[in-house]
Amino acid sequence: MYRHVLNRTIAALFLVALALPAQAAWIRGQEAMMGTRIQIELWHSDEVVGRTAVSAVMDEMRRLDRLMSSYRPDSELSQVNLNAGRGPVSVSAELLTLISRALEFSDVTDGAFDITYASVGHMYDFRQKVKPDEQTLLRGLPAVDYHHVLVNDENRTVRFRHPKVRIDLGGIAKGYAAERSVEILRRRGIEHALVSAGGDTRILGDRRGRSWNVGVRDPRQEGRVIAMLPLVDEAISTSGDYERYFEEDGVRYHHIIKPTTGKPAGSVRSVTVIGPDATSTDALSTSLFVLGVRKGLTLVESLPEYEAVFVDHYGDLVYSDGFARLP
Ligand code: AMP
Ligand code: MG
Repeated sequence: MYRHVLNRTIAALFLVALALPAQAAWIRGQEAMMGTRIQIELWHSDEVVGRTAVSAVMDEMRRLDRLMSSYRPDSELSQVNLNAGRGPVSVSAELLTLISRALEFSDVTDGAFDITYASVGHMYDFRQKVKPDEQTLLRGLPAVDYHHVLVNDENRTVRFRHPKVRIDLGGIAKGYAAERSVEILRRRGIEHALVSAGGDTRILGDRRGRSWNVGVRDPRQEGRVIAMLPLVDEAISTSGDYERYFEEDGVRYHHIIKPTTGKPAGSVRSVTVIGPDATSTDALSTSLFVLGVRKGLTLVESLPEYEAVFVDHYGDLVYSDGFARLP
């Protein structure tokens, strides 16, 4: 008898819980992945839907990391690096498309953006303070040339024209991942979100009546912000010489490599690019870093939807023209 009443009470409580209106909430998620920190912040009228969406984005990030990481020997990208010097390697449509987009950026930037930078770039180990000596670097340089990467759309294969070519998508993959994440969120009915993967952030909608504010950090002082950019429905990427580096004899050896020399690009400290698509802001911020202020400004001024702010060699801010017109 007593048991019967208890069961009925539990059932009634359960029904009340179901009948309660869903709780609207801001939901946040954070995870270390892709050698960086993934951060998500989103709003949904139903907290449960919001939480599931955060998990879906994290799953997508994990999937892309497994596909495109050059650090994972079992990734599709590593298989390409291992075998494409000997002949065509079959790849997924997704990897093929991203490699093709990377090659388009090489064309647009006159080779400043070049995923074959890795042919010598992988000789550096910034954590262990390792860099190649001049001889080794010179021997490796002939393999750095994006024209060596041959993509066959019909057969869906990639081949390298030179046996020592290695590619790395580190300059474009995080932006692509952020862009994909926002597509996933949009499909789940989310209208206000921020997804960031290290220096690459994609914003969906506004922050419920306000803009999202993304800071540009001081390249020489962690935690200090030197510019605040109000953004709505946009992507923002920063490339900086402070992300991965070591110093030796007063020289900063960092992770953005000038393809013509195989050495870290030296003329600016950071570049931030904003625009409608995170894959592009990611590739462009890396490109503009290599190009430097003068050539970089010329390029970004030719792209009406994209704007850039440089922190130059002296620590001064240089804005592209369109920034003056932003709200
Ligand atoms: P980001 O922080 O987006 O500028 O990406 C930097 C990463 O891009 C590096 O860690 C490398 O993986 C990759 N990278 C470095 N130099 C180049 C280059 N010249 N072209 C394309 N990718 C590069
Ligand atoms: Mg980039």
